[in-house]
Amino acid sequence: MTRIAVHGAAGRMGRNIVSVLAEDKAATLVSAIDRAGHATLGQDAGVLAGLPEPLGVALTAVLPAALEHAEVAIDFSSPEAARALFKACAERRVGVVVGTTGLDATTRAAIDSLAKVSPVVLAPNFSVGVNVLWALAAQAVRLLGPEYDIEIVEMHHHHKVDAPSGTAVRLTEVVAQARGLDPARAVVAGRHGQVGARRPDEIGVHALRGGDVVGDHTLILAGPGERVELTHRAHTREIFARGAVRAAHWVCGRAPGLYEMADVLGITTS
Ligand code: NAD
Repeated sequence: MTRIAVHGAAGRMGRNIVSVLAEDKAATLVSAIDRAGHATLGQDAGVLAGLPEPLGVALTAVLPAALEHAEVAIDFSSPEAARALFKACAERRVGVVVGTTGLDATTRAAIDSLAKVSPVVLAPNFSVGVNVLWALAAQAVRLLGPEYDIEIVEMHHHHKVDAPSGTAVRLTEVVAQARGLDPARAVVAGRHGQVGARRPDEIGVHALRGGDVVGDHTLILAGPGERVELTHRAHTREIFARGAVRAAHWVCGRAPGLYEMADVLGITTS
């Protein structure tokens, strides 16, 4: 039985994870954490997630006490909030599944420190399909060669606060590595005005926002006389929640270190 704490439990992803955990006979939700002052504190996490029966776990904001019975914490909150969780998890050697995106350098450094003492799975996207997309993207870029221009287009709901998406950033890293480019130099984020002709070593990245789109990502490889497009469309947030719970089971009892979803799924890209 994996004992799991959910951080950001009142959020869109947090509530999805609570629902998935309620159905998982091999997992127990031991705490549901959200920010101090949140209107839902004290409410039952299951009821908040829309389940027919309460789970008997009340929303709390009290760290590190909320980790007392946890083996793994699943985080879908914000970078700043995640850093406070990492500190508490490091003290208690609790494993962490990090879903929060838009991570700045300080938060990345905090994850590296945490991974020295706890096992951590970090994934900008926990869906199986997207992890397969990354593997296919690398292969397609290698097979098609440098004549094919690389462009990435992503679309998300209008609530999303970071751009491009963490998934698009990872896709950029994957294709840049396959092409032998430095993403920091290659990425052109959107185009506007007299930008001049496209350089062959550019990777164009374009973020669309609107409606309730859960998450679409397309890689376009445009060559002479043809183009290949690889698209993943998320229809429901449940795919991320299921992947994150799968990662939580996998990471429990692992040696300290930084892992990715490819490790959880056994996907090899080379
Ligand atoms: P959301 O805004 O609905 O939920 C975030 C929750 O975190 C809120 O309930 C908020 O109150 C809570 N929070 C804020 N500060 C906190 C604190 N100090 N302590 C505890 N909780 C705190 O957002 P969401 O749509 O659920 O997304 C959350 C994050 O997950 C975003 O970064 C998003 O991009 C990312 N995400 C990742 C994946 C993936 O597969 N990796 C998938 C979907 C979303």
